[in-house]
Amino acid sequence: MKREFREMLSGRGRRDLPGVLLASAECAPLSKTGGLADVVGTLPKSLKKLGIDARVITPYHRCIKDRYSGQTEHMFHFNVHLGWRTQYAGIEKLVLDGVTVYLVDSEYYFGDRIYRGGLAEGEQYAFFCRAVLEALPGLDFEPEVVHCNDWHTAMLPMLARTQYQGRMQESRRYLLTIHNIAFQGKFGFDYVQDLLGVDSRYYTPEFMELNGCADFLKAGCVFADRINTVSPSYAEEIMTPYYAEGLEGILNARRAQVSGIINGIDKTLFNPHTDPLLPARYDRGHLRGKAVCKSELQERMGLEVRADVPLIAMVTRMTEQKGFDLVARVIDDLMGNDDVQFMLLGSGDERFENIMRAAEGRYRGRLCAYIGYSEPLSHLVYAASDFFLMPSRFEPCGLSQMIAMRYGSLPIVRETGGLRDTVAPYNKYTGEGNGFSFANFDAYEMLGVIRSALGCYGDREIMRGLISRAMQADYGFDGSAEEYAKLYIWML
Ligand code: ADP
Repeated sequence: MKREFREMLSGRGRRDLPGVLLASAECAPLSKTGGLADVVGTLPKSLKKLGIDARVITPYHRCIKDRYSGQTEHMFHFNVHLGWRTQYAGIEKLVLDGVTVYLVDSEYYFGDRIYRGGLAEGEQYAFFCRAVLEALPGLDFEPEVVHCNDWHTAMLPMLARTQYQGRMQESRRYLLTIHNIAFQGKFGFDYVQDLLGVDSRYYTPEFMELNGCADFLKAGCVFADRINTVSPSYAEEIMTPYYAEGLEGILNARRAQVSGIINGIDKTLFNPHTDPLLPARYDRGHLRGKAVCKSELQERMGLEVRADVPLIAMVTRMTEQKGFDLVARVIDDLMGNDDVQFMLLGSGDERFENIMRAAEGRYRGRLCAYIGYSEPLSHLVYAASDFFLMPSRFEPCGLSQMIAMRYGSLPIVRETGGLRDTVAPYNKYTGEGNGFSFANFDAYEMLGVIRSALGCYGDREIMRGLISRAMQADYGFDGSAEEYAKLYIWML
C-alpha cells in the first residue's frame, strides 16, 4: 500500500470507510463482453484488501443462471413500473471470491443477450436502473457511494436525485465511470419519457438532450457527483470535440469533477511464469520458454518456424477504433519489403476480416489471420510474439498492451488515452522505454515506427533491456483500487 494512502486511512476507523455498490451491465467472471466486466469483477476484490466493503449489482443474465443458479440465495422480489408496464424483478444474492453480488432477475429483460441492441437495449437498462433504485432500501447493505459504469447505469444519479428524492439517503454519492464515451445510450425523448417518466424540463441541453436525443450518458455526466474515466490521458481527451462525441460541453463545465484512473490487469491470470495455457513458461530472467512459445505458435498457425524473424501480433476487436484502417493501408508495404511475420487474432467488421484473410492468402507462411475469439490462443499469441501492434484511433485504457508487456511482447502503439499512459517509447539516446509509439493517426507514421522497432530486433542488448523493462511494469489492479478508494473517500 502506498504511504500516502496509508496516511489517509490512518485517520479513519474501519467504520468510516465508505460502502460502495458498483452497478454494471456486466461483471467478470459472471458475464463478460469486454474490459468493463474485468474492472467491475476485479475492483471489489482489491478494494476489500484496503478495508472497503464494495459489492456489485448486475443483471442476472442467462449465462450467469446457467452456471451459478445453484449458489444464489433469493432475497426478495417486487414489481417495477416502467411506463405502462409492470415487470417482476427479483434480487438474488451470490457471494463469489468473498465479494457479494446482487443479481437483478427478470426473465423478460435478461436472457441470452447481455445487450439487446437498439431500443430494446434502452428498455432493458431503463428497467435495470429503476430496479436498482427500488432494490436499494431492501438490501442488507447501505452504500455511501453508488458507482455507475457507462451509459447502461448512467441514469441512476438523475433518477435518484429527481424521482427518488426523499426516498434515498440524502448523503449518498454517485460516481460515474466512463469506459468508452463512444457509447452513450441515445433514444428519442418520447421513448425515454414513456419508459421512465422523465419530466420534459430535463429534455434540454442543460440536462439530457444532445443532438435531438435523450442521452443517458449525458444525464449521468450532469447528475453524478464525480465523473471519472479509465486513464488520465483519456480524461483530458474527452474534453475535446475529436474524442468527446458531443459531450465536451458538459465535461468541460464539470472539469473540476472529472479525473482519470488507469485500469489494471489480473496479474495472476496473466503471468508467463505460471500460465497453464503456455507450452513453456518463462520470466524476465529466463526467456527460453518464450522462444518455445514462438515456435509452437508458428507451427500451429502455419507460419514458417524461424526463431530469427520478428513476429508482430495483434489480439483485438477488428474495428475502426482499433486502427485497422492503418493496418489495411500498409500491410502490403510491410509484408512485401520486410523480413517479418504477422499474427492476427481477432474478429469484428467484415470489411477488415476480409482484408486480413486476403492478405493471409498473399503471404502464406508469413501472415496468419485467425478470425475468431479464443482466450487460450490469445495467451500463446502474447507469449510468442516479439511486438504487439495497437494503433488505436482512441483507446480509453486498453488492457491488451499491458498484457503484452507482461508477456515480454513489446507494444507498438498510437499515443492516445491509456496507451499513452502505459507505454514509454524507446529512446535510443538514453536507452529508456518499454515499447514504441507514434503520435498521429497516420498509416505511414505507424509504418515508420514499426520499422524502427524491427531495427531494434537485431540488437540483442537493446531487445533484452526493452523486454526486461516491459515485463517489470506494474499494471496490477491494486494501484487502481487505491486511486478509486481515494476518490470514494473524497466524495463523502
Ligand atoms: P477492448 O475492451 O476495447 O476490446 P482492451 O484492450 O481493453 O480492448 O481489452 C481487450 C481484451 O479482450 C484483452 O484481454 C484481449 O486479450 C481480449 N481479446 C480481444 N480480442 C480477442 C480475441 N479475438 N480472442 C481472445 N481474446 C481477445
